[in-house]
Amino acid sequence: MSFSYVGERFADIQMLRYRVEGFERLSLRQKLYVYYLSEAALSGRDILWNQNCRFNLPIRRMLEAIYLGYNGDRKCDEFCRFEVYLKRVWFSNGIHHHYGCEKFRPDFSEQFLRDALVDVGYPVDEELLRVIFDPTFLPKRVNQDEGADLLLTSSCNYYASDITQKEAEAFYAQMKKADDPHPVMCGMNSRLERDDSGRLVERVWKSDGMYGGTIRKIVGWLRKAQEVAENDQQCEVIETLIRFYETGDLSTFDEYTIRWVHQLDGTIDFTNGFTEVYGDPLGLKASWEGYVNIKDAEATRRSEKLSQNAQWFEDHSPVAPEFKKQACRGIDARVVEVAMLGGDLYPSSAIGINLPNSNWVRQEHGSKSVTLGNLTKAYNEAAKGSGFYEEFVIPESLSMVKGKWTMDLDDLHTDLHECLGHGSGKMKPGVDADALKAYGSTIEEARADLFALYYIPDEKLVELGLTPNAEAYKGQYYTYLMNGLLTQLVRIEPGRQIEEAHMRNRALIAHWLLEHAPEALQLEVIDEKTYLRILDYEELRTHLGQLLAEVQRIKSEGDYEAARDLVEKYGIKVDAALHREILLRYKKLGIAPYKGFINPQFSHVRDENGQITDIKLTYCEAYADQMIRYGKTYSYEC
Ligand code: ZN
Repeated sequence: MSFSYVGERFADIQMLRYRVEGFERLSLRQKLYVYYLSEAALSGRDILWNQNCRFNLPIRRMLEAIYLGYNGDRKCDEFCRFEVYLKRVWFSNGIHHHYGCEKFRPDFSEQFLRDALVDVGYPVDEELLRVIFDPTFLPKRVNQDEGADLLLTSSCNYYASDITQKEAEAFYAQMKKADDPHPVMCGMNSRLERDDSGRLVERVWKSDGMYGGTIRKIVGWLRKAQEVAENDQQCEVIETLIRFYETGDLSTFDEYTIRWVHQLDGTIDFTNGFTEVYGDPLGLKASWEGYVNIKDAEATRRSEKLSQNAQWFEDHSPVAPEFKKQACRGIDARVVEVAMLGGDLYPSSAIGINLPNSNWVRQEHGSKSVTLGNLTKAYNEAAKGSGFYEEFVIPESLSMVKGKWTMDLDDLHTDLHECLGHGSGKMKPGVDADALKAYGSTIEEARADLFALYYIPDEKLVELGLTPNAEAYKGQYYTYLMNGLLTQLVRIEPGRQIEEAHMRNRALIAHWLLEHAPEALQLEVIDEKTYLRILDYEELRTHLGQLLAEVQRIKSEGDYEAARDLVEKYGIKVDAALHREILLRYKKLGIAPYKGFINPQFSHVRDENGQITDIKLTYCEAYADQMIRYGKTYSYEC
């Protein structure tokens, strides 16, 4: 069976698939571990649906009844529009856009829905119809507009619908203990409600509380996982998580995350639980998510090689000697393969995850930072076939950029950035680490990127077996600078400037080079299209070394003025005419702005006695089939 990264497209969504190559290399016991953890990751799905809006689950059930049972013409326009609506609802885990939070407007008529319900014999619920068709009712999942009551105007389900922002804020303010060095994340795992006398009370999410049926299922799978864990520490992590699910006690949750942060051995890792707070306008209540990952052996080998040689890289960098570290150690940042996405990570997922979120736990125990390598790969492979490179890469460099090495070196760039770049250099004694203030994060990202860019052509990497030859870096230089000068502008709305630190850093490096190294690179207009032409790659590297030395000096000395000048001059401003041109060219490609993933599917191989002898992953399930299967398999209550 051939594997395709690109799945179906609807509305503003492109579905992708990811491969889990490391799965086949696991032992049967490890495969079972991944399997049980995956079931636990999928089991909490309906918690998230209910968290996003209290009408989501009844609406999904109603729509799925029509989707499965409709006897009318399934090719007619109305049904096709209904199908698109349902696909969007599935994708967003509810009736509001996963990113913009606005409620979807159905393109099919209310009459169609009423007739369809009669057709499949499903009761007509007037309230649900109003939720779908009245654009003024529950228009936004999370409202962040200043001035409005954020709870009354948001339709997420973390607070009973009549509780005001003021009431909720007062409730949680009195709960906080002053001067607690180890504060729990108050309110994280409960819905705020009103009791019979009108007082506010928390309904806690736990085995014998709210979402109890679902949580007991999750716990059941975690227990099975525990039996086949790779080591005792993993067992203890799971044990503590189960205790948290059973008690709802937030200090147990902190204990769980601490154990989890320190658990570094083994090939398989996971998260499962109430995690991110973006879905609550007050930023207290955590949405449910879960995922499972497998350490990427090849990538880990790569980052270990870099870490072992960290001091060599530090010693040979173009940075001034007084700003170099004497004892340099690489950072533990691992590249992993996702094996299963669930809850708020499905189908739309982050490509890097850094947890836990508790500040004091991070400060005292650190955090785990992972790059989801196989998702990045899927994004890159999908971009290959989209016409993106053909449109934006200057024709003479196209085959070089689309060559095999460009993608591989993307990963190497990330490793150099994470393992060495951020860890390199030292501060001048007495300089405040926050001296660069608002420009600090852009300068820090630039420092790490420049470290990576400076070293990616280096013979040392060929010697370490990390690059195939001394030419391979050219595609990486090209795509990096093309992104910084041109294509990253597609993520910015017309009339706006660059805000995000990573984007600023890329613009800063690329525009600085454009001004200081005209003999090495230039922008060129061919047939009214602006392209990047690189004339001299070696010269480019020399200049990158100069900028690295300067950026390290700015950081080490806390030179606020120099940081501001650099960022303001090269990192923020957008040329309006060029921006228009890039947006127009991008729009013509018809690339969907949002992407998400279809999960792989497990199949068990059994012997004649019914014993499992192997587990395989398959990648052929269609998007709608997966959604219908999840709806049937992982729906326990609500
Ligand atoms: Zn970084």
